[in-house]
Amino acid sequence: MDSLYRDEQQSKIDESFVVPAPPDGIAQPVEREPIIGPTGRPWPDLPEPPPLTEHGPALIIAMCNQKGGVGKTTTTINLGAALAELGRHVLLVDFDPQGSLSVGLGVNPHTLPASIYNLLMGQDMSIDEVIGQTNVPGLHILPSNIDLSAAEIQLVSEVAREQTLLRLLEAVRSRYDVILIDCAPSLGLLTINALTAADRVLMPLECEFFALRGIALLTDTIAKVQDRLNQRLEILGILGTMYDPRTLHSREVLERVVQAFGDQVFHTVIRRTVKFPETTVAGEPITTYAPTSSGAEAHRTLAREVLARCRVA
Ligand code: ADP
Ligand code: MG
Repeated sequence: MDSLYRDEQQSKIDESFVVPAPPDGIAQPVEREPIIGPTGRPWPDLPEPPPLTEHGPALIIAMCNQKGGVGKTTTTINLGAALAELGRHVLLVDFDPQGSLSVGLGVNPHTLPASIYNLLMGQDMSIDEVIGQTNVPGLHILPSNIDLSAAEIQLVSEVAREQTLLRLLEAVRSRYDVILIDCAPSLGLLTINALTAADRVLMPLECEFFALRGIALLTDTIAKVQDRLNQRLEILGILGTMYDPRTLHSREVLERVVQAFGDQVFHTVIRRTVKFPETTVAGEPITTYAPTSSGAEAHRTLAREVLARCRVA
């Protein structure tokens, strides 16, 4: 069992797997055992995606799970930063009135002159006045704050209320390669807007008891949005987060998730580490806060897996 959960799973290759050069340069066929990843499946080849020479139009990914505290915001920030490291132009959309994504990138939500709320309400300003830079080149943010909670109610009376976010993002889609929407922990109108704007949905799932609770409701909601509002929408994948390979419990949860969802589950798994809460305090992604940490490496691997799945490499 232990071999299923080797320490170096996240992206590094164990040196014992490195095949020594054949003596005297004679090529010898070598049988290689497949490397088993943390999800119990053979670890796939995830090559470094080639640099882009042109940018856009963006693939829009909604990070969605109506449960709070499962790693939506953490994944949005760090996947975004890892994609930017690969030269992708990335826009992160804070679509949670709690504004955690903004805080996690060092933006003070209380002092924002304008936020995504003003844009959603059709106030007379351009999206460029609201988009901010981050400390990562190529990574931009559309911040939010508590004002956004009013939008949930105010949008109800709008015509085509579910398409409001999509209309906003269409204006900048050609400039970015990937747009990640950090959803609120609910399946209300804001999240429906995110799913209507998105091409793909990524579901972070905490490797804890009850993780699968509510997933049926989420997949049901996704199916309804696909049917009634957005036929482009597809599930990009399910991401195991807060995984602790030392506990049997964590491994069992991950095993059950793979049994239930098969290849929809990302090979990459994000481990539980105190480094993530620390990055929120620091207001920057883990890829710059602790660039050589296993958490940073895991998000770089996730970025490669996401690009491989989307074929936007
Ligand atoms: P969500 O957006 O789904 O509510 P967050 O990304 O905000 O979840 O994560 C909830 C809390 O858990 C945050 O304090 C965050 O720092 C912490 N956290 C997220 N991912 C991890 C992880 N892999 N290991 C440890 N703590 C984590
Ligand atoms: Mg969040």
